[in-house]
Amino acid sequence: MSLPLRPLRLLLLGAPGAGKGTQTSKLLKHFTGLTPISSGDLLRKEIQTKSEIGNYAQDIIAKGQLLPDSLISGLVINELNNRNLLNKNSSWLLDGFPRTLPQAKILNEDLVSKASDLNLVVELKVPERVILERIENRWVHVPSGRIYNLQYNPPKQQGVDDVTGEPLSKRPDDNAEVFQKRLNAYNETVDPLKSYYKDLGVLHSVEGETSDIIFPKLLDFIQNKFN
Ligand code: AMP
Repeated sequence: MSLPLRPLRLLLLGAPGAGKGTQTSKLLKHFTGLTPISSGDLLRKEIQTKSEIGNYAQDIIAKGQLLPDSLISGLVINELNNRNLLNKNSSWLLDGFPRTLPQAKILNEDLVSKASDLNLVVELKVPERVILERIENRWVHVPSGRIYNLQYNPPKQQGVDDVTGEPLSKRPDDNAEVFQKRLNAYNETVDPLKSYYKDLGVLHSVEGETSDIIFPKLLDFIQNKFN
């Protein structure tokens, strides 16, 4: 376990089901001091606590649509602020946000003003056929965001989180019809986002069919760049 020498402010890009959450868990085991922020997890917690945002977001998420840029940007930037991460020394990892060009611009404005702009964006490239197979088997522990896959990463006891013993749930938006909508939403919004980060000189990609193939490539890449 080690911390990258230079502060790492990383965004993982990738289609839903590409394994952003799984790569995040794996990275956390290697790097202490790296704080993960997942916009989807933040929203699922809001839904669970039945907050105003949660109640509003529930239907939109269930339909596989995206939340308004200003709302989701406010939620994530608030979280970065509350956790005291908007400074040049902190290391963190964003998963699921920004997802659109306007979100990227809103975030960047805030980050640049705090000298803490993103210094690495990695797109996880996984064939769509593999993603569709994978999603049917995905279960999640909502409070922690831990993800299990019945095929290659099953919980020790069926339906139960390994760490807390609490129940796992199936995401209501992980069914074939809604999932296709989420994939379409990703494909429609990702190109301008990628161009934006390419122009900023921080965009890279890692390719593979499984998380175990992708992870060593991602780790190597980060270690070479940040050690
Ligand atoms: P995820 O867990 O990242 O797949 O997010 C689940 C759902 O939450 C998405 O399908 C969207 O409905 C919503 N969501 C998460 N992040 C964003 C975002 N950055 N912009 C808009 N909607 C989002």
